[in-house]
Amino acid sequence: MFKIIATDGKARAGALHTAHGAIETPLFMPVATKAALKWVSLAECSAAEIECFIANAYLLSLQPGLAVIKKAGGLHGFMNWSKGIFTDSGGFQVLSEEFLLKINDNGVFFRNPFDKSRSFLSPEKCIEIQNALGSDVAMCLDDVPLHGSSAKRIAESAARTFQWAKRCKETHKSKKQLLFGICQGGTIEKLRRKSAEQISSIDFDGIALGGLCIGEPKQKMLRMVSLSNKIIPPEKPRYLMGVGSPKELLQCIALGIDVFDSCFPTRTARHGLAFTEKGNIDVCKSAFKFDFNPLDAKCACPVCTQHSRAYLHHLFKVKEENSKMLLSVHNLHFTANLVKQAREAIRERKFGQLVKRFKQL
Ligand SMILES: [Zn+2]
Repeated sequence: MFKIIATDGKARAGALHTAHGAIETPLFMPVATKAALKWVSLAECSAAEIECFIANAYLLSLQPGLAVIKKAGGLHGFMNWSKGIFTDSGGFQVLSEEFLLKINDNGVFFRNPFDKSRSFLSPEKCIEIQNALGSDVAMCLDDVPLHGSSAKRIAESAARTFQWAKRCKETHKSKKQLLFGICQGGTIEKLRRKSAEQISSIDFDGIALGGLCIGEPKQKMLRMVSLSNKIIPPEKPRYLMGVGSPKELLQCIALGIDVFDSCFPTRTARHGLAFTEKGNIDVCKSAFKFDFNPLDAKCACPVCTQHSRAYLHHLFKVKEENSKMLLSVHNLHFTANLVKQAREAIRERKFGQLVKRFKQL
């Protein structure tokens, strides 16, 4: 169940009620594909006030396998995580040509990345896996066209995604677990609109926008978000898959998106990119060699309170693995804090002021 607490323009602050408590929105989720974040422990996630993350159901069903996770009391028990967990169907793997063998109306044929065997995922199987994992929110299986696909392929993927969405809804019987549908349609307005209408016609607990942020121009992505949000019923939580840069988070919150996931904060951190209120900085650059300021003067994370840019610059220069962990922790804190500030600003109807404060992003 989703409850909107406040709105400011199109921006919304709400609460998504799950089996593991209410999760406040706007919400940012880091990606924990194999039930872990890269370089960041779950304890550090909690300290960064991360309320939820998204794991890959398909990969977890292969390794360690559902028998292990079920015996541990579900994914929450296995990881010892008491807050929210979304699982995605594995549809995102379709984007990876390395794993995809064939896709047809029955489902997706993958190459098992662990033992290279052939494996098959249908909409029904994808729901059964996510039920067994016991995540708070399950995602439908969708057919994601690669960036640059033809209009014919995008139309085919959107039509298939709708058929699969109906089969997922039919299979999903869990009362504890929420189920979100996913819209496709690439950046073709007519197809994106039609997909939003089709997926919205099914009574899902939330609606996600998929197949965006995969290389298309940013203005096009924002346009697709804007037109989709006019179609998705306002009482449903709206989830934009794949967005996680500070600037895009604020832009999409302003358009009425409630939930985000992305590996952007941690992936870029591993390459030396740190988020700050005044924009992203690359600590590998020699400009930071003698910079004894913290990454971000206002950030209260354990990295900013203990280390200087010069020290972090040094760690990257000498390729100390520690550097990846430290910057990942900072970027997660920064991102979690940014969406928290957005929630508070929306409640106080000061979201516009917050956006102005971050205009240098
Ligand atoms: Zn920090």
